[in-house]
Amino acid sequence: MFILDAHLDLAMNALEWNRDLTWTVEDIRRSEIGMTDKPDRAKNTVSLDAMRKGNIGLCVATQIARYVKKGSALPGWNSPQQAWAQTQGQLAWYKAMEDIGEMTQVTNLEQLNNHLSLWKTSSNKKPIGYILSLEGADSIVSIDYLEKSYKQGLRAIGPAHYGPGTYAHGTDSVGGIGIKGKELLKKIKELNLILDATHLCDISFWETMKAYDGPVWASHNNCRKFVNHNRQYSDNQIIELVNRNAVIGVALDAWMMVPNWVRGKSTPESMGVTLNQMIDNIDHICQLSGNSLHVGIGTDLDGAFGKEQSPSDLDTIADLQKIPEMLSKKGYSKEDIENIMSENFIRFLKKTWS
Ligand SMILES: [Zn+2]
Repeated sequence: MFILDAHLDLAMNALEWNRDLTWTVEDIRRSEIGMTDKPDRAKNTVSLDAMRKGNIGLCVATQIARYVKKGSALPGWNSPQQAWAQTQGQLAWYKAMEDIGEMTQVTNLEQLNNHLSLWKTSSNKKPIGYILSLEGADSIVSIDYLEKSYKQGLRAIGPAHYGPGTYAHGTDSVGGIGIKGKELLKKIKELNLILDATHLCDISFWETMKAYDGPVWASHNNCRKFVNHNRQYSDNQIIELVNRNAVIGVALDAWMMVPNWVRGKSTPESMGVTLNQMIDNIDHICQLSGNSLHVGIGTDLDGAFGKEQSPSDLDTIADLQKIPEMLSKKGYSKEDIENIMSENFIRFLKKTWS
């Protein structure tokens, strides 16, 4: 079954983890044996090769670079200009992948339709399609930088990431969106960019919903019902997004799947983390919306973690192909399952770009 993954940090892995994503996952793991600089060394689950093996032909791929103010304890760049430059390097990597036929940027309806048709053929080594998204807007030095990004193909943007940001408060911080946030939302609407509501803290989330009436999705978000944390959506937030015709991508980061996960200590096996919790999150969103039209897949599988913090029944991203059967066992129809695996996000994109 064709799969769309609404959240991957591919370029970050290429540049900050020094991973050549044209390799197999196994080759990348082998090359990282003995490295200790990142917790997920030799435990990666994502490569372009693995995506092809799993029929994950389209993804939302990020540019990501946080700016931190003087004195902040969070890791990040010390100026918005450095953060911007980092995102430009990431874009250069995506473009280089395009040059060798590994990836292709999808920015409009025509490209989307062509790409989906190509993936219905049996031609070998099809390029992975990507919709360019910015995770956390701090690298947007001033509003005119958003226009530059749009010209480069940016089509979705999340105002916040972790902590307080320039345009909104993100995960684990508390506060609103301020004047700058409102200006950003206005420009997002004007450019017909998709607003990614993921990572907004509760106050910023609700202020954003009040100030913005353009297209909105949540690329990688789970439910607070299962893990009571501000990174997760309350039922009210899910209902608000459903009422706005949003699609919520469900993520596979273990701490967002079971309560009381302790980073670096808990293991997927000891905590019983499997793809079953993803099914539970998907099902909860379907129950709240009364249909299968508002949930999709947004794994985050290369978001600075690997097998040590992923479901134990997933070795590589290609194992997403286990989900259709699990949904079928839970009583979901073929049409429901196709909606969830790709069609909801595809329909959203077609509507936004038509
Ligand atoms: Zn994220």
